[in-house]
Amino acid sequence: MKWRGREQSSNIEDRRGQRSGGLGGGLGGSPFGRGGGGMRMPTGGGGSRGGMSSLIGIVVVLGIIWVATGQNPLDMLMNGGTTTTSSSSASSSSQLPASGSQDDLRDFVGVVIKETEDLWGGVFAQEGQRYTPPKVVLFTDQVNTACGAADARTGPFYCPGDQKVYIDLNFYDQLRTEFGAPGDFAQAYVLAHEVGHAVQDQTGVLPEFNRRRAAMSTEQANAYSVRVELQADCYAGVWANYAGQQNLVEAGDFEEALNAADQIGDDTLQKRMQGFAVPKTFNHGTSAQRKTWFERGYKTGNPGDCDTFSGNV
Ligand SMILES: [Zn+2]
Repeated sequence: MKWRGREQSSNIEDRRGQRSGGLGGGLGGSPFGRGGGGMRMPTGGGGSRGGMSSLIGIVVVLGIIWVATGQNPLDMLMNGGTTTTSSSSASSSSQLPASGSQDDLRDFVGVVIKETEDLWGGVFAQEGQRYTPPKVVLFTDQVNTACGAADARTGPFYCPGDQKVYIDLNFYDQLRTEFGAPGDFAQAYVLAHEVGHAVQDQTGVLPEFNRRRAAMSTEQANAYSVRVELQADCYAGVWANYAGQQNLVEAGDFEEALNAADQIGDDTLQKRMQGFAVPKTFNHGTSAQRKTWFERGYKTGNPGDCDTFSGNV
């Protein structure tokens, strides 16, 4: 991706290196405090290192506290201020990405976010609406949000409670090594996906889901969640198309993003983690679904083609 030297967003909040003091205490209590029981993945043990690193897979990209808390992962996405994470140590959180310095990554995020702002600002303006760009918070290890505390294991996420995207840049290291999704365009896809949730927050998709899910069974909520997530993937594809129009895309970029979508599909993640997949627990979509919807957005560049709510996905 040809991002160097391009204008950066002014909506980046750099909180790296800040300690979020009192995090564990303030939001303490049991990480299994709400909605426990049935939502936890059968990971067994959880204390082993291998177990923990593979758990990251489940929470990736949406930012959800699925395994760590036993809560529906969409709690963080949909409800402000209810979710807490376990604050146990994240084994790989302190390594610097091998692919570039952290400041390089910060610049990279700034450019990608600026391009999302231009894209969605234009899309909303065409509809006579105004797009409010989310702030993007870079943090290290732990962060307090309106959706509760998060740590490096959470993965990037969007919090509607404060309308911010959160990312620990060390995640990109994990994306490359643990999830087998290298490449800057894979990184951009993750960001564009989270921004897609901010868009959904403003189009009413997230608020509506939040309203309706209260009356849903866990399985129904998961199925609904998949549609929300696939739309965010499609929006990421729309962004990738837009990035192409801005001459940001290089040979191999699209494949990097598609591979990332593949690697973080629910079925692929679960099989990697536990050897088998449990479809009724899927909340982001299968690898095939994620690739399909990303690709759809990429091909047409039209958010109107991202209706994941009618018909089969
Ligand atoms: Zn998501």
